[in-house]
Amino acid sequence: MAWWKKDRKPRTPPKEKASRVPEGLMVKCPDCSHIIYNKELAANLNVCPKCSHHFRVGAIDRLRMLFDDGVWTEYDKDLVSTDPLQFTDTKPYKARLKTTIESTGLKDAVVVASGRLDGIETIVAAMEYGFIGGSMGVVVGEKIARAIERAIDRRSPIVIVCCSGGARMMEGALSLMQMAKICGALARLDRARLPYIAVLTDPTTGGVTASFAMLGDLNIAEPKALIGFAGPRVIEQTIRQKLPEGFQRSEFLLEKGMVDLVIDRREIKAVIARALRFMGARSAPAPAAVAIAASTATEPAPQL
Ligand SMILES: [Zn+2]
Repeated sequence: MAWWKKDRKPRTPPKEKASRVPEGLMVKCPDCSHIIYNKELAANLNVCPKCSHHFRVGAIDRLRMLFDDGVWTEYDKDLVSTDPLQFTDTKPYKARLKTTIESTGLKDAVVVASGRLDGIETIVAAMEYGFIGGSMGVVVGEKIARAIERAIDRRSPIVIVCCSGGARMMEGALSLMQMAKICGALARLDRARLPYIAVLTDPTTGGVTASFAMLGDLNIAEPKALIGFAGPRVIEQTIRQKLPEGFQRSEFLLEKGMVDLVIDRREIKAVIARALRFMGARSAPAPAAVAIAASTATEPAPQL
């Protein structure tokens, strides 16, 4: 028997006190460390009330922010990628698609919908970063191209909210072809003299920046969003120079003339509506007015 061995039972770790705050009730702002109630954050459009840090927002929340009363009609909801290259990286692309579809509830990285934006009939395509980094594959390209065609058919403006890591590696050259396809559709929109507004959110990079994100009649960025083509590390290694402070952030790009406006998320809807009106978009008649107009076909509407 050893001399100094103590015959004691190991101490049991103290029982963890039940937290008074249920998990997921609050978040800490990564910028100013302010603790914010989730409800308060949601009411403030996911912007920190103290320092205006813009939290990342999903596609559905984005549509909710832009459309009047949160009402919209979604299009091409069931388009799904078919894994044309049978690609495998750390896991097969098919399996990755399946788990992402289950976790996000979306079929791919963009949601296209139409509705009223401050009374103006508008088509909005919002990208979802949670779906494989918001990457642009065949489905994203097809949905956005169809959205633009739809805008041309209806003579309505289009808003694309970009939030993407770029083209989708797992679809190789097919994903790169989407850049040309969307740009072609945007050229037709331009010839039809219809407005397109690009909203650049954190992050907008790669093939998305290199195509439709920079082609808006007006390019609006959210504050401090990362917007660029290649990442800063790659650029530093290529040009062998230290990059300036704030490189590839919205404010830097505004100063250099790459974007037209940097707008707080809480004001973005009003700014888009004002810009669309300036570009000639008109408010659609309110549903109630349409109903009254229809009823006048048989009897005159009451004079108010
Ligand atoms: Zn903050």
